[in-house]
Amino acid sequence: MVLQVRSFVAGQWQGRTSGRELTDAARGAVVGELAGEGVDAAEAWAHARETGRRALQRLDMSERAARLRALGRTLTEYKAQLYALSTATGATRGDSWVDIDGGIGALMAFASMGAAELPAGRLWPESAVQPLSRGGEFAGTHIRVPRAGVALHVNAFNFPVWGMLEKFAPAFLAGMPSIVKPATDTCYLTAECVRLMAESGLLPEGTLQLLVGRPDGLLDGLGAQDVLTFTGSAQTARSLRSDARVLAGGALVNVEADSLNAAILGPDVTPGSPLFDAFVDQVVREMTFKAGQKCTAIRRVIVPAASREALVERLRTRLQAVRVGDPALEDVHMGPLVSSSQAHDVREAIARLADGAEQLLDAAEPTLVGDGLRAEGFVGPVLLGHDGRDPAAPVHEIEAFGPVATVLPYEEAEQAAALAAAGRGSLVSTVASDDARWTAGLAAGLAPWHGRLHLIDSGSAAHSTGHGAPLPALRHGGPGRAGGGAELGGMAALDLYMHRVAVQGSPAALAAVTGQYVRGAPVIDSDVHPFRKHYEELKVGDSLLTHRRTVSEADIVNFGCLSGDFFYMHFDEIAAAASPFGKRIAHGYFVLSAAAGLFVSPSPGPVLANYGLDTLRFVRPVGIGDTIQARLTCKRKAPRPRKPSDERGQGVVTWDVQVTNQDGTLVASYDILTLVEMRD
Ligand code: NAP
Repeated sequence: MVLQVRSFVAGQWQGRTSGRELTDAARGAVVGELAGEGVDAAEAWAHARETGRRALQRLDMSERAARLRALGRTLTEYKAQLYALSTATGATRGDSWVDIDGGIGALMAFASMGAAELPAGRLWPESAVQPLSRGGEFAGTHIRVPRAGVALHVNAFNFPVWGMLEKFAPAFLAGMPSIVKPATDTCYLTAECVRLMAESGLLPEGTLQLLVGRPDGLLDGLGAQDVLTFTGSAQTARSLRSDARVLAGGALVNVEADSLNAAILGPDVTPGSPLFDAFVDQVVREMTFKAGQKCTAIRRVIVPAASREALVERLRTRLQAVRVGDPALEDVHMGPLVSSSQAHDVREAIARLADGAEQLLDAAEPTLVGDGLRAEGFVGPVLLGHDGRDPAAPVHEIEAFGPVATVLPYEEAEQAAALAAAGRGSLVSTVASDDARWTAGLAAGLAPWHGRLHLIDSGSAAHSTGHGAPLPALRHGGPGRAGGGAELGGMAALDLYMHRVAVQGSPAALAAVTGQYVRGAPVIDSDVHPFRKHYEELKVGDSLLTHRRTVSEADIVNFGCLSGDFFYMHFDEIAAAASPFGKRIAHGYFVLSAAAGLFVSPSPGPVLANYGLDTLRFVRPVGIGDTIQARLTCKRKAPRPRKPSDERGQGVVTWDVQVTNQDGTLVASYDILTLVEMRD
């Protein structure tokens, strides 16, 4: 059956056939037809702005995180359908795993990060509040709010699922609707993923739309509150960045472009050692995985001149053993390039790279495994050699987006760093060495030119997540030629889609704006101890001022004996007298423990656990005879995703704790985090 690949706009699959056929990468058989004609991009922009944004505003951030998790589960349930289509893009089972399971993993990771780190509301306040007047009557903080626009994602062909989901997830969590324009060659797989998500009923209307092909007016809608994320070649990036509509509209632009990533072998790594083999594994994997059509693939292999021959020999042997052919066959390691035209571009790039280079392995025309394959779509591994000394040499300029790498020798670490830097900005480089000092010196030279450094040694190589795997919690992106973009990186991914604004005002105004307690704002004192309230009953601002306790020498001695902490400041009268405090003082941890004793409500109740403490400062010393008192105030609440095994729901409650002395002076300050049960 030939698929009609349409756009998904305003809740409808729209578009007439353009006559453009979408073909299977291995055999050239028609998989689908691009039905991208007659679609009005303006309708997608309007629907995202009016319906999508409103729908997201109705969900708070924890609800959005829960939706992402549910979407991840749905895609997991139906992923066989995605795998079936993925083979047509030229992907082996392993290639598809990174795209499909990797994409679902990104959804799940943002769901977890969102649930753990974001507050329950619609904006994201920072915890830190700075007093701006002597008595704290006027203060300042920052909040993050979703940009009041739409995120347009223009994606590359090589990761049709992951490429969409790693951008959609943080945009959705932040509260921005997405319009996805996938690369045409593999858009049928992206469209299938969108269909599964849309039919799940979990996607609020207008929050994810798809525009296939090159619809008219795609960029016309871009305005000052919008975000354009682009993944693709540096050339297209340049043309989009300089597009008059992008420049005039003032949209935020994030670019992930091509990159000449490196792998650098340390001089201490002996040929044949496990680390040497691990290095070879990384290079072979990165050259052949997805047939080298990976933005993070290793393009330059930088080796000590003394180890060059041994390394080339090993790489040659390994690359010659790579079985190229039908990606559907289990014993095939590497499939075709995505299209004959990509294969043509790669052959052309190889010819340019080969100019002035040594041909170390030319397996570009491999014997193919499988029947009925279209030979022109396949390019086998190619290894070249060059001295790379001229920073303008093709090896530092040309990205062959296929299974191609060049080996470059070096003598000194500075030379290795200079060779890597000649790529003028990369996504990632690997360094393999057991000499941590050497690695650190090299890393200092590499860091300004990279988005990520992947450092392996004998102890870690087998556990590494891999040179080429962008991880949701770590930055993906790179400076200069790599586009200057920053994606993923944990909650920093939300920076693209949220605007950070400073807010100044009274503590009461800041508490009202941020939805969290700010010191100096009115508190709610009541007869019911806050620890006796269930999650739903607790209000931000609910507070308890405890009874007092005078600290005695016996407290200090007992605490020292219990903890084994006999630091002179607590036990040596003479040394303590000579210290800046001029006297013996109580342990800070005693003050903390005594405060817990002051505010605890001992009998069983809705507080299930105390699981952490943030921002602890011991502000002033507490001496023998000082009297302490604590104020505990509910600062913020966030529900926790409910597990099937949970009898009742739970939420995380953050409490502001201030411990003061007999003069009302703050002696200790911190937040504690508790798990509080819901009534229902
Ligand atoms: P590309 O030709 O630059 O295309 C990328 C995307 O831009 C496609 O969706 C393409 O649509 C679209 N596009 C091209 N011209 C456009 C225009 N004038 N207006 C609107 N959209 C336009 O790149 P590609 O060949 O798909 O991908 C390969 C390149 O991407 C490689 O160089 C690789 O290094 C880079 N890449 C980088 C990363 C990264 O994270 N840094 C990740 C993956 C790939 P059509 O398909 O319809 O032409």
